[in-house]
Amino acid sequence: MSKKIEIAELSSWPIENIDRPLIIGGPCSAETEEQVLETARGIKAAGIPIFRAGIWKPRTRPNSFEGIGAQGLIWLQKVKAETGMLTATEVANAKHVELALGAGVDILWIGARTTVNPFAVQEIADALRGHDIPVLVKNPINPDLELWIGAIERLSAVGLTKLAAIHRGFSTYQKLKYRNDPQWQIPIEMKRRLPNLPMFCDPSHITGDRAYLEEVTQKSMDLNYEGLIIESHCKPEEAWSDAKQQLTPKSLEELLANLVLRDPEADNEVINNTLGELRHLIDDFDQKLLELLENRMQVAKTIGHYKKENNITVLQNKRWGQILEKSLENGKKKGFSEQFINNLFKAIHQESINQQEDIMNS
Ligand code: PEP
Ligand code: MN
Repeated sequence: MSKKIEIAELSSWPIENIDRPLIIGGPCSAETEEQVLETARGIKAAGIPIFRAGIWKPRTRPNSFEGIGAQGLIWLQKVKAETGMLTATEVANAKHVELALGAGVDILWIGARTTVNPFAVQEIADALRGHDIPVLVKNPINPDLELWIGAIERLSAVGLTKLAAIHRGFSTYQKLKYRNDPQWQIPIEMKRRLPNLPMFCDPSHITGDRAYLEEVTQKSMDLNYEGLIIESHCKPEEAWSDAKQQLTPKSLEELLANLVLRDPEADNEVINNTLGELRHLIDDFDQKLLELLENRMQVAKTIGHYKKENNITVLQNKRWGQILEKSLENGKKKGFSEQFINNLFKAIHQESINQQEDIMNS
């Protein structure tokens, strides 16, 4: 069985006066020395203690910008010397670890595409043996909690204790509102399994769009996350990677100032937190229900067009009878009353009919 995972408190990280949330800010990628330094000055002015920049970038397609490579590490050293901020970057193999440690990078993270690969995580863990550096582990791109925990275990097994998790959402084939589906229940379950593991939210990679950063960041604060990692660029529109989701350091400062930080030490702490988490799960499911209904309606509309072209009536009684019968049967197995299933499916069916009729008569 797995050994106990020892997790050090955030207060043991080499940062003075840690506030909640602990914030990591900076560009998706280090591009040029000027861009790194200009962005870093803004991040420092926003009161953020840790500066991030990707040096090696895992990109979905080749021939995208795959990171500036080791020369960017020198720019991070300049950031540290000039601003006093700690620096953080992503490592995906032993060579990255060696170079980053050699350059004095203070904090490392393992990217979502690396967490999925136990060979890569083990290689990184082996390269980190004997070093006492904070390492954050992003969730794997697929919604697999065990894989995420497994990566933490591999790092723990080589003696690292300054560990934390980053929730950056999960890849989906279907296009949802956000770039990556947050599936909040997974980090919540992670927290239940490893209560001392600090949880950071990465609203940039969850949303993929700066328009939604604020709502996701607030939600993570309502769920008591300990930290945030947010992408920020001095000229977001011109960023060489993830341009749509980055915001200027000034806008980031505003976003952070607008956050409502509820006190996790409130009177009925346990009750409040539990209720809050459960309600967020409900909100999450409600949103998914609507998204599913939207997708279902899209298919109904396609059928509407098809019926129109082929001169078929909107309603086929036999087909509707089958849908209802099957749903009643399935619903019963899931413990739902007949009345509920009747009401639910009649409402859905009626809306499909209305939308198909609009198509027929347009
Ligand atoms: C990143 O943080 O820039 C990054 C590549 O993120 P992820 O691993 O979450 O895709
Ligand atoms: Mn990015």
